[in-house]
Amino acid sequence: MAFPKTLKKALLVARAFGIVASFISGLLTRSVSLRLKRVSHHLSPSSSSSPKPDPRSRNIVVIGASMAGHHAAHTIATSLPPDSPYRVVVVEPHGTYRNIPSQDPEPWFRKQGPLSGFGMLTHAEYFQFTWVLPRFSVVGGHEHKAFIPYGPYLSGAPDGAVRWVRDRVVRVTRDSVQLNSSGEEIAYAYLVVATGAGATDALPSRVGVDGRAEGIEALRQMQGRIRDARNLVVMGGGAAGVELAADAKAKYPEKTVTLVHSRDRVMHRFGRELQDAAMEGLLGLGVEVVTGDRVVNCAGQRPNSQLIAELSPESIARTGHVLVKSTLQIQDESLPNIYVCGDVAETQTANPNSRSAMHQAMVVADNILLALEGRDPTYQYKPLWVEGLIKLTLGLDKSVTHLGDGSTELLFRTKEKDLALMSAQAWKQLGARPFEDDYDTLHKMLAVP
Ligand SMILES: Cc1cc2nc3c(=O)[nH]c(=O)nc-3n(C[C@H](O)[C@H](O)[C@H](O)COP(=O)(O)OP(=O)(O)OC[C@H]3O[C@@H](n4cnc5c(N)ncnc54)[C@H](O)[C@@H]3O)c2cc1C
Repeated sequence: MAFPKTLKKALLVARAFGIVASFISGLLTRSVSLRLKRVSHHLSPSSSSSPKPDPRSRNIVVIGASMAGHHAAHTIATSLPPDSPYRVVVVEPHGTYRNIPSQDPEPWFRKQGPLSGFGMLTHAEYFQFTWVLPRFSVVGGHEHKAFIPYGPYLSGAPDGAVRWVRDRVVRVTRDSVQLNSSGEEIAYAYLVVATGAGATDALPSRVGVDGRAEGIEALRQMQGRIRDARNLVVMGGGAAGVELAADAKAKYPEKTVTLVHSRDRVMHRFGRELQDAAMEGLLGLGVEVVTGDRVVNCAGQRPNSQLIAELSPESIARTGHVLVKSTLQIQDESLPNIYVCGDVAETQTANPNSRSAMHQAMVVADNILLALEGRDPTYQYKPLWVEGLIKLTLGLDKSVTHLGDGSTELLFRTKEKDLALMSAQAWKQLGARPFEDDYDTLHKMLAVP
């Protein structure tokens, strides 16, 4: 009987490789076709001799610049021809205002390179890296690594193709968005809604504040509360709860740590092998686990779909997610220019995560790029089971990586050496040097208090 199971696992690995290979070949084909388009654009006589249209007079507004929105903005902005009339306007509240005194820092930025062209002279924007929040809620000294400077990832875009707005959208109409702080109304030709979802708006799932300094402080306060508590009760046996409870018990073995979960099994949305491994890891560390229907569930996913709910209430599912077509256009036929991606969208993805969010962002970007050429959006998002891969830490030096297609599962146990987990990789992926923050350097240079 062992043989079929082994064979099934081997087939699962082969299928996973097949899907990843075809995904990578799709990306390569896309990149080659983009380069060819750019070359043909440069060679075309119209690109040099005919009068240019009013530059960047039409907006593609992206609301939210996390895994989905940031990737969609990058893909669209770096694919726009240099003389396109379109500009990507990213609206994201995460960041920090800086009071840069008398000296003009612009030459410094230009010398440094990656941040030039974004006009961020008195404020800095930071990507909040969710994956490490449970760990940094317990372990000190790495908080700054959860705040990745935004600039470099978009630096490949043509000049003027990106406008970054540090604000929050409070209203969406059929053709414009309205900002919270400035009150500005920005007209859009296309809109990408990537406002995400969260079990809570606070640690350990989300930073809960927009500023970097405030975020670092929130993490330190959480570490202090855990350090000072005699007994710790963690609500919710999803990934964030399991990781935080395991880390807390590993760091403070003398404390009583209890994990409370409303379902019968922790990690209930994943396969049985991961559930067993999580339970084994928790009990092995000495975490007390309380599960089942005697626990009231108060931590369901809350999609940030209010903006669309006000514009098109019929496009909101009972779960609060935004209903979309397979092209990721909103289901409302009267709003074909609104696309939705990431955790806020109802896409039938079993366990939404960064991979599914970025895959959806690619589909949205490609469809908008088709639409800019006057063509119908034809790219479709179909959830891929390989996107459900998850790495779950079980204490400070152990993790399990799980992959399953609903019937067969693979589980790899790993020793972890890096307390900061994948932060360095994430910085590099976003084009930043781990863990160099140009704004910190600038402040030191200018001796800003
Ligand atoms: C603790 C934790 C650990 C995780 N670990 C992993 C992991 O290891 N691997 C993995 O693949 N996935 C992981 N995930 C899941 C992953 O973080 C999410 O699936 C992913 O972040 C979804 O991306 P998103 O862009 O859809 O939404 P979000 O990341 O939620 O981002 C939404 C963005 O929209 C912005 N926004 C919201 N409303 C507005 C508005 N009105 N105006 C302007 N901007 C707005 C927010 O500021 C935010 O930046 C983890 C999640 C958590 C909570």
